[in-house]
Amino acid sequence: MSLPQQQSRDYYERAVKVIPGGVNSPVRAFRAVGGDPLFIRDASGAHITDADGKEYVDYVGSWGPMVLGHRPTVVTDALRRILERGTSFGAPTDLEVEMAELLCDIVPSLEMVRMVNSGTEACMTALRLARGATGRDSVIKFNGCYHGHSDSLLVAAGSGVATFGISGSPGVPDDIARCTVSIEYNDLEVLEQTIQQIGGDKVAAVILEPVAGNMGLVVLGEGYLQGVRDLCSKHGIILIFDEVMTGFRVALGGAQERFGITPDLSTYSKVIGGGLPVGAFGGRADLMEQLAPSGPVYQAGTLSGNPLAMTAGLATIHHLRKTNPYPRLEQLGQRWIDGMRRATEDAGVPSTIDGCGSMVGMYFHPGPVRNYTEVQQADTELFQRYFRGMLAKGYYLAPSAFEAGFISVEHTDDLIDATVEAAGQVLQEVA
Ligand SMILES: *Cc1c(COP(=O)(O)O)cnc(C)c1O
Repeated sequence: MSLPQQQSRDYYERAVKVIPGGVNSPVRAFRAVGGDPLFIRDASGAHITDADGKEYVDYVGSWGPMVLGHRPTVVTDALRRILERGTSFGAPTDLEVEMAELLCDIVPSLEMVRMVNSGTEACMTALRLARGATGRDSVIKFNGCYHGHSDSLLVAAGSGVATFGISGSPGVPDDIARCTVSIEYNDLEVLEQTIQQIGGDKVAAVILEPVAGNMGLVVLGEGYLQGVRDLCSKHGIILIFDEVMTGFRVALGGAQERFGITPDLSTYSKVIGGGLPVGAFGGRADLMEQLAPSGPVYQAGTLSGNPLAMTAGLATIHHLRKTNPYPRLEQLGQRWIDGMRRATEDAGVPSTIDGCGSMVGMYFHPGPVRNYTEVQQADTELFQRYFRGMLAKGYYLAPSAFEAGFISVEHTDDLIDATVEAAGQVLQEVA
């Protein structure tokens, strides 16, 4: 008889010899929770199965893309059909036009879009465009917000970095980091003062996650986004909403639809790729026209607009639009929040639990949790024990105390209730 997770252990042993840390993205490692990462064999609906055949209820959802659950037939059928045509042509296709039209149709602030291959690329290029269009160098971001790993944005950047306690990263030159000012999230006065200090006419862009999902989950205070919008308009600063996580997740039109605030540029990835590697950014046509080949700001990509990625994304977005699962996702999220609040209270564990639609988060801290400083006060050691207890019971959570959880249309009331019950039992044991 083999040990549980034996297959994962064997793969991991091979992996660490040829892949740094054994993983292709640091957030997949289990360093923050102890133990070795599970290797996943397959997935279906709300469940994933590891290499040893153990099944888990999945709250990671590939870190956000799988809003329809794993392997939805609308996506897998569409992918099967596109394979008859080819996998990449390096020339425009009808699919890219359809994708751009669909995104612009659903999100009113998008007048034009460009497809790229990841959220990192989308944010990196949106920033370059904002700098190119304004002729200004400085950008303002917020502590704990993550916008991918490009040099300019890897400053005080949330979970992956936070989990490992690295501020920024070696390899990011000071001269580049200097142009990025990272400030406390959710505090309008701090933003106003920072703009004053730098000089309103020197700030190219303010970039933010309209719901923070990379330092656990932090929902912004009432009126904050409108305040940011007003400050940016006043100083001619480009406001960039990073909707990589929130886009087509917290509402079909993302956080900007949910909160009714219009950014100048927005970035996307995750849900719009339906599980394939994709990214996009877009917004005001006068800005987007500055991009090569219509304008001077350079950006390119051999596999950008890849037919497979477009197909999976189109199938996902069309399905979301047709079925409107958002009210249902809202209910599921609320059920999780209510249940977890009860479970933690019953176990006598001080906690702060919140959500935005199908994005949910729990801190082992009495709160309030409004910014990165407060996020960091959460009890990470309790989280480790909680994580391991949940994993043993068949619940796959992100292996970090500072990640949002994702619910899909395949999660049922019964699954949420079972999760809550398991969480209650685990907390009774480990708290
Ligand atoms: C995941 C994420 C990114 C980075 O996207 P990648 O595809 O991993 O490069 C950027 N911004 C936010 C808000 C994200 O959640």
